Amino acid sequence: LERLRGRLSKSRSMFGQSLLGLLGAGDLDEDSWQDVEDSLLIADLGAATTTQIVERLRDELSRRAVRTPAEAREVLREVLTASLSTDGIRAVRALPHEVDGQKQPAVVLVAGVNGTGKTTTTGKLARVLVSQGSTVVLGAADTFRAAAADQLQTWGERVGASVVRGKEAADPAAVAFDAVKRGIDEGADAVLIDTAGRLHTKTGLMDELGKVKRVVEKQAKVDEVLLVLDATTGQNGLAQARVFSEVIDVTGIVLTKLDGTAKGGIVFQVQKELGVPVKLVGLGEGPDDLAPFEPGAFVDALLG
Ligand code: GDP
Repeated sequence: LERLRGRLSKSRSMFGQSLLGLLGAGDLDEDSWQDVEDSLLIADLGAATTTQIVERLRDELSRRAVRTPAEAREVLREVLTASLSTDGIRAVRALPHEVDGQKQPAVVLVAGVNGTGKTTTTGKLARVLVSQGSTVVLGAADTFRAAAADQLQTWGERVGASVVRGKEAADPAAVAFDAVKRGIDEGADAVLIDTAGRLHTKTGLMDELGKVKRVVEKQAKVDEVLLVLDATTGQNGLAQARVFSEVIDVTGIVLTKLDGTAKGGIVFQVQKELGVPVKLVGLGEGPDDLAPFEPGAFVDALLG
């Protein structure tokens, strides 16, 4: 929690100082409520979520006849936490299954637009799973970005996971297929597949990502489709999420670069508008900078 608090310092200064300053000032007039609303909007909570949170705040503050800044802080904490899904707490455990008496690895597809932190997230997730005692195979199916396979290879060596990669410009689905096959043959616990992040057209994406999933499903069940979103892109990230969730059943969001933005509020919007839980958050570039998303701790870190 201390680490999360430190990493979220940019978001915290938005919420923590301006919001708590306002709420702690006693009875709020309409101008002050407007300022509260603005603080939430600036932090990227979006119009719908902001309206809902302000309404709840107003109700709760008057219902409980809140007078002190400490009480106001507690109400704010409760209201914000309650508007986040807790489905992320269990995060990604990637448990293998038994199929016809044979062990089958859990399969996780990692999707997202290039540059969001997809490959890094795949590597960090491997690190988490390996440190929990799981054996992991990584599939470098992002064959579009030339350096992605090398980058994943480095992660594999760093964290102790084997890496399956194709030849240059290989079909992403073929690489994904081979990675799952390797996972099954080696009796691995999990196969994590870094998919190509081209978002040229929706049909192109659908063809590519849809094909990866279909091909993987010839051999194993896809347990998770994690969509990686860059928190610093705000509304743009939300637009990406809409496109991806039309193309594939996204089971969880990984929100990266929360360490580098004052807009941590995008978490609220993503959950509300897409109905998909944020499961993991990226808090830096290092191997240990991936954390399960836990609403209470997240809100505490925001409020400081
Ligand atoms: P991809 O194209 O989506 O696979 O993106 P990469 O995994 O190559 O990441 C793009 C850049 O973002 C790299 O420089 C990463 O180190 C960086 N990055 C990824 N996740 C995070 C994060 O949580 N915080 C920060 N600060 N940087 C990140």
